[in-house]
Amino acid sequence: MSVITEKKANDLIFDKISAMGHEQVVFCHDEKTGLRAIIAIHNTVLGPALGGTRMWQYASDADAILDALRLSEGMTYKAAVAGLNLGGGKAVILGDPRKDKSEPFFRRYGKFVNSLNGKYITAEDVGTSKADMEFIAMETKHVSGLPEHKGGSGDPSPVTAYGVFMGLKASAKKVYGHDNLRGKKVMVQGAGNVGRYLIDNLIKEGAEVFVSDIFEDQIQRVISAHPSVKVIAPQDVYGIEMDIYAPCALGATLNDETIPQLKAAIIAGGANNQLLDPNRHMQMLMDCGILYAPDFVINAGGLINVYSELEGYNRQNALAKTEYIYDQTLAIFEAAEKEGISTMEASIRIAQRRIDAVANIKTRL
Ligand code: NAD
Repeated sequence: MSVITEKKANDLIFDKISAMGHEQVVFCHDEKTGLRAIIAIHNTVLGPALGGTRMWQYASDADAILDALRLSEGMTYKAAVAGLNLGGGKAVILGDPRKDKSEPFFRRYGKFVNSLNGKYITAEDVGTSKADMEFIAMETKHVSGLPEHKGGSGDPSPVTAYGVFMGLKASAKKVYGHDNLRGKKVMVQGAGNVGRYLIDNLIKEGAEVFVSDIFEDQIQRVISAHPSVKVIAPQDVYGIEMDIYAPCALGATLNDETIPQLKAAIIAGGANNQLLDPNRHMQMLMDCGILYAPDFVINAGGLINVYSELEGYNRQNALAKTEYIYDQTLAIFEAAEKEGISTMEASIRIAQRRIDAVANIKTRL
């Protein structure tokens, strides 16, 4: 790379960071273990930046940086809307979660987390597990989502899925005038941790559930628990007849190609960063008359769960707080309607108002 091109690339990173308002971005590298990670701290006005560590094989370093920047920004808004005293952060590890893991790898990563002195607290995310968190915990106390036998809150996914279910019901209330999902066709994309627990809730409620995943073993786990669930091939997800689309795999599934195919009245799912280009694709959804339940509002259950671990874990309290997502989602729909803005914009405004108000009292005696 020439000096000029290198300079350009660096400028782009700082342009991005300054446009999105990040406080700090840390690049972690360790030759011996092969660790390459990025920790992005977006905002710490409300408290320490808590957010999971994602492990993924990114197509490029630039994709990994962008993912860390976007995910950490989402965490700031998620914590603020959920009323938690937490800031927004997120980390990505560049690697294959099925091949590249080891104890030294995660302990080395734990040392990097520790070097931030509690400004960033990590947890599980896509590609990382409770076992990985245990290795990290050997090197730092700034980790949450530990197994129950270690005094942690265990797997956050059932609580995340419960919150998504609450958001989905609130969306149904807005569109249909009632929140009963009996007979509603719900397309769940991703039969992972969140998707599976969401399906349990939907089946209990009497919804007609469709599922899709890129891995056959994931599909089989759902079908053996719920034989009535219909399987859809990954490429056919967007075009099927459905009432509700619940993205529970990776982000950016709402884009130029997919939105025109959607026949759903509602989008409400657990995946982070579902809109590829938040402003443009949110507008496209509004133009199509599709109600969008903002991802960071309705998938806050996992964060609520790990937050309660920091306070002394109690699952009932975490679920009760997560149930509040129903009211919060309805409040956001009302605010969006009243102010003539998108549901995404309404959520961000509510989050930003809380952050600004707290920043304001922090500067006073
Ligand atoms: P997971 O890895 O357990 O599940 C994701 C599933 O999606 C996997 O089964 C994967 O095979 C599948 N998948 C990937 N690409 C796909 C595609 N193109 N089509 C269909 N399926 C595909 O992850 P998870 O913990 O269930 O999280 C799912 C999403 O929810 C992620 O975006 C995550 O960031 C978000 N989220 C999770 C939590 C949590 O508590 N686990 C909390 C908040 C947000």
